Amino acid sequence: MPLSHRITHLTGGGPDGWELFLRSRDMIANGIDVTELTIGEHDIPTHPDILNAMHGAAMGGHTGYAMVPGIDSLRDTVAERIQARTGVATTRANVLITPGGQAGLFATHSAACDPGDVALYIDPFYATYPGTIRGVGAVPRAVQARAENGFQPRASDIEAASDGARSLLINSPNNPTGVIYGRETLDGIADLCKRRDLWLISDEVYDTQVWEGSHISPRALPGMAERTLVVGSMSKSHAMTGSRCGWIIGPEEAIAHLINLATHTTYGVPGYIQDAAVFALDQGADLEQEIAAPFRRRRALAKQILANQNTVALVPAQGAMYLMLDVSATGLDGESFANDLLDARHIAVMPGNSFGAAAAHHIRVAMTIEDSAFATALQTLCDHAAHLADGAARTAS
Ligand code: PMP
Repeated sequence: MPLSHRITHLTGGGPDGWELFLRSRDMIANGIDVTELTIGEHDIPTHPDILNAMHGAAMGGHTGYAMVPGIDSLRDTVAERIQARTGVATTRANVLITPGGQAGLFATHSAACDPGDVALYIDPFYATYPGTIRGVGAVPRAVQARAENGFQPRASDIEAASDGARSLLINSPNNPTGVIYGRETLDGIADLCKRRDLWLISDEVYDTQVWEGSHISPRALPGMAERTLVVGSMSKSHAMTGSRCGWIIGPEEAIAHLINLATHTTYGVPGYIQDAAVFALDQGADLEQEIAAPFRRRRALAKQILANQNTVALVPAQGAMYLMLDVSATGLDGESFANDLLDARHIAVMPGNSFGAAAAHHIRVAMTIEDSAFATALQTLCDHAAHLADGAARTAS
């Protein structure tokens, strides 16, 4: 039976960027000891106190259908948190609880775009973005944030691509680059969205992982609250990736329609998960900092290791759980380097081109293994890069 074009073309065909990851998993299945610096997931489980709250809620009977928009206490807690962090007046009517940020990305694009509309996104990008856009019947169009601009997107580049566009998706702190968009970048984007009448979809799932500078939510910029849909999540901030709990923040009218969409798609998020999320958010910034601490430590370790060499270059690692490294001095592009590193040293990293063309000379290193193993792997990576660069220099001379 034929299936819809929309579903059969969701991934756009061709390589999906996970080839190296799958090769590393095959090697592991064959007994090879591979150090994986690939996936963006904490190396700690969800905090036992959060799990206790979840257990208590489930045993207390919160196992039936929950309110589709989210339970009042979670919507209120999220609204307060957002208002405290951004200064923008936010109430429960501005909040929809979703099964994770991914569901929020799908729903926000459904709200912003009709089938055939262009939805802009920034390259390098989180792997699901173009497929999510195709999933709602819109047409993904990438705009490169260039390495020479420190991977900060330029409003002029976005504008040049904005014919037929209804929305722009941005992500700061950014996966994969670890860059945080500065005030100038966001002002340019806000101005453009207002002039070209675009929805801004702001993926802020890494908003608690800020190592340098500060995270600005573009919803807080003048005139932006009425055209911004913020996607948030408990996944990264509270190591709750498997619990599937996130939210969308937006204008009341948009949220009212998004609640209708939720009624006809997800039908809400389990009540015991939402109770656990309320508990987790009530612990405040201390718990968020505790959960972010391993990445902060490993980033500091990485900076020390990288300071002692000059082959690989670190993109300013301002936030999120990744390091983006320019490996062009090895004479290889990111993909060839990552494959070589896997074969020669049994270390798996993500080739930059898994996240788009703008990062073709880069690799993404996830800081998601224990500190000393992380430091050893990064040192080995640098040694390998230096060895390749020596070889490249000898060939050239
Ligand atoms: N956005 C970005 C940039 C991500 O990296 C991820 C997960 N890796 C998500 C959204 C989705 O996260 P979740 O659905 O777990 O909230």
